[in-house]
Amino acid sequence: MSFASRPTRRTLLAAVGLGAGAAVLSACGEGGASEGDGLRVVTSAYPLAFLVARVGGEHVALTDLTTPGADAHGLELSVKQTMTVEQADLVLQIPGFQTALDDAISTQDGENVLDVSSVIELLPASAAGEHEDHGGEGEEEHAEHEDEGEEGDEGEEHDHGPDDPHFWHDPLLMADLADALAARLGELSPDAAEEFTEAASALRGELEELDVELEESFGAADAAAGGRRTFITSHAAYTYLAERYGLHQVGITGVDPETEPSPQRLLALEQVVQEEGVTTVFFETSASPKVAQTLAQNLGIDSAELDNLETRQSEDADYAQVMRSNRDALVESWA
Ligand SMILES: [Zn+2]
Repeated sequence: MSFASRPTRRTLLAAVGLGAGAAVLSACGEGGASEGDGLRVVTSAYPLAFLVARVGGEHVALTDLTTPGADAHGLELSVKQTMTVEQADLVLQIPGFQTALDDAISTQDGENVLDVSSVIELLPASAAGEHEDHGGEGEEEHAEHEDEGEEGDEGEEHDHGPDDPHFWHDPLLMADLADALAARLGELSPDAAEEFTEAASALRGELEELDVELEESFGAADAAAGGRRTFITSHAAYTYLAERYGLHQVGITGVDPETEPSPQRLLALEQVVQEEGVTTVFFETSASPKVAQTLAQNLGIDSAELDNLETRQSEDADYAQVMRSNRDALVESWA
């Protein structure tokens, strides 16, 4: 196989002979790229890595910058990782998700970037109807707006706020990104373009099936639980899930897990628990689980785990499996 945009390692070896080829290999290694031939693609969240692996297959050498179980928002890049970003054929970026990656990209020409927000219309960080902490400094003056919003608040615009990066909890948005990714990879490697398109199309089929399955089980839970589909979670990572399936997410903090809840926020949460019969506070291992666990303890209700998918917690569970186990945990909390 040969790529139009960049000679592969194999063609380089053939062109310059084995000795010089070894030097090329070692230069690649210093860049921090993954093993293997193919397009060097960099991601910084597990769902993005999942898409790249499924769409790109053997034609990509994938580097995911996150550490399993760590807070992906707080990603820090080593010098080596910054070089990996610079030297990549393609970097997937969710602007506003990770300052370190945004900064690394801003110092480059950006031509190797696939900006997720150019494919997917990201929701504003406060779109769930809950007036979340905005996550940034200097937003304290908005604190008085953090009363418990009901449906009427959903139309309120916060165009000054950051986008909510967690689009991957909506399988149909994942399918849209898979298609865009296939197109972009196809530009970089025209010989494999058809394979990318076919892989994205097969993946879309799976993601649409997952969507139907989630729709059915959340709908059934709705009927069984008398309309109670409220869930409290440690950081508001599930807005896209809530939007797609008509759930009501109440985040202890906003989309940024580093934000600590105010005493007023905790009082409001207690009210939600009482009024909406919430049985469980959900925590995420990567996002201050203590806050959620303490809240559950104080309110005398259960705590359980949701996986925000920002990093891959277990090699045994892929994207779709985690989506299903999150669904199971939520449905159980309404039983
Ligand atoms: Zn998050």
